[in-house]
Amino acid sequence: MTTLTQRFPRQEGDGISHQQWEVDLAAAHRVGRWSGRTPHRLTREVTEMAEHFPRWILTVGAGRQRVTCSACGGMLVFDRGLRCVACQRPYKPRKLPAQTSLAWFGLLPPVGIDGLTRLRQGLIAAPPAQHLVGRRDGIGHYLLVPLLAHCAQGFPASPVRVVYLPAFFKIRGMPADKPAHAYHMLGDGTMCLFAEGQWRRNMTCREVLQQRAYPHVIKLLNYADGKRDAFAIVS
Ligand SMILES: [Zn+2]
Repeated sequence: MTTLTQRFPRQEGDGISHQQWEVDLAAAHRVGRWSGRTPHRLTREVTEMAEHFPRWILTVGAGRQRVTCSACGGMLVFDRGLRCVACQRPYKPRKLPAQTSLAWFGLLPPVGIDGLTRLRQGLIAAPPAQHLVGRRDGIGHYLLVPLLAHCAQGFPASPVRVVYLPAFFKIRGMPADKPAHAYHMLGDGTMCLFAEGQWRRNMTCREVLQQRAYPHVIKLLNYADGKRDAFAIVS
């Protein structure tokens, strides 16, 4: 079977060290209850993510949230079964909520913010919780946006569901987190990424993040910046 490695940064004294593990694909397939008897599709998804989004972590989510360690609140990862990345305690799959889905968690590539005339200063002064602002020659100030991408039970029968963290909606000027056609949201932090019937079973999480979720973030930031036609422009 394919082996794929994931890494998680942890603070150690003054420095950062990395914890590393091989993704337990069989355990993830059991927990995620995807269609198919073997983790064939999951292997493909994990391989693509490893190539294009190498820092994203395969975890478990329910609704808008990640499911976390009941002992320390740490992130759950597929390391020799399901396990807390912080305290290393195994997590019993039968304790998971009924609607648990496999989910990817990570930061999108940088989004330039110097063109956001209304939002720029506020973002630089106080980035939303769990979001990062930096500066680099070439793109200027940028924002790193964390997202959770869920693949529900039975995947790929239903589309990848991509969700913003609540703090994103605390950005000044951001519209309400509710279903809205004008800015393509389904409510509860969920992006509206597919028109009825548009989802195809062979679309992968990597594709959805690159081709739909990343442009959604750029458009929503522009919308919040006052460009009310942001979602009308074909990307
Ligand atoms: Zn823990």
